[in-house]
Amino acid sequence: MDKRSIPNPAGNPLHAVQESDELPGLYIHIPFCVRKCAYCGFYSVTDRSQIPDYLEALRREMDFYRGWAAFFDTLYIGGGTPSVLPAAELEKLITDTRGTFAILSDAEITVEANPADIDAGLLTALRRTGVNRINIGIQSFDDGILAFLGRRHDREQAVAAVTAARIAGIENIGIDLIYGIPGQGMDAWLATLREAVALNPGHLSCYQLTLEDGTPLAEQFRRGKVVLPDDSLQADFFCNTSEFLEDNAYIHYEVSNFARPGRESRHNRKYWNHAPYLGLGPAAHSFSGRERRWNRRAVNAYIDDLASGRTPVESREILSDKQLRLEALFLGFRTRRGICLETFGIRYGQDLLTEKRDMLKRLSEEGLVEIRDGFLRPTRAGMAVADSLALI
Ligand code: SF4
Repeated sequence: MDKRSIPNPAGNPLHAVQESDELPGLYIHIPFCVRKCAYCGFYSVTDRSQIPDYLEALRREMDFYRGWAAFFDTLYIGGGTPSVLPAAELEKLITDTRGTFAILSDAEITVEANPADIDAGLLTALRRTGVNRINIGIQSFDDGILAFLGRRHDREQAVAAVTAARIAGIENIGIDLIYGIPGQGMDAWLATLREAVALNPGHLSCYQLTLEDGTPLAEQFRRGKVVLPDDSLQADFFCNTSEFLEDNAYIHYEVSNFARPGRESRHNRKYWNHAPYLGLGPAAHSFSGRERRWNRRAVNAYIDDLASGRTPVESREILSDKQLRLEALFLGFRTRRGICLETFGIRYGQDLLTEKRDMLKRLSEEGLVEIRDGFLRPTRAGMAVADSLALI
């Protein structure tokens, strides 16, 4: 039996199960890029002639999930590169989304954008539809590094993009950066951080470069053409980033994320808090409190499925209590807020302080976690090894 045709217990479509106290978030994936960056392992295609058929398929999928949740308080349009859509199409997509789903008037509405695409026309279209947050994929302020990464913008465009977004009235600006790039020393990385802070964004995401199979960068590495920083330098990148940004009034609220107070990403927090979310588009994931499902990756297959009246869901899984508990630990240890011991006990039936006493004592003595005000939290050193903390 084709897994995609298995009906769910609630009938079709699946309805959100409200187990978290947070409202659901809505994610829309735009899987198109002008060209592939050398390091990128995300699924996206460069054939933009498929955009009209894709948007039509997306509207069909939206119709399918109409009524999935009573309200959404976030909408996040990510990619790929959403800003490669013509501004009028992006505006229409957001308008149609708001017409299909009940998105609260004070919702956080984010669009990801490449600096090369940001101009007055795009920003005006975004503002007209109520977009109040823009996440700009800058990655570096060093033109040499940008060229090495295969990005299609330069430093000047990056600075201009942030300035233009602010002038257009989008106050909530996020910047994505990457560190640990071959040949990048600490001074160069700190110079990029300084430039970022000078632009005063509310949010900064700083990701460590990872090698993704099948990318040009991974191939260069395999041939010995490039060298990545060793573990000790990677740890220094992480700790220096945290220190520098906290010194500049950013809260290190998740392993890779920093924000001025009140500028934390409401949408991303849903992923970390096990809140429900609906994901639309190829490879998009949805979570309804216990069930996770995900769509097929290929754009063609996604379009064909929806044109034929089939759901593009590739597969789904029902998470067991144990899986939910482990995920909650894994996600909680990635955040500065940490794990609320009382809520964890109620939701997952485990008293961590009693059952993991010896392990927590050891981690606390090693300076990796702290227990304060009813929360089990990773320290900065703990966040650097967050994924292994979940193995307690
Ligand atoms: S723009 Fe983003 S999604 Fe597209 S190839 Fe580059 S890193 Fe990947």
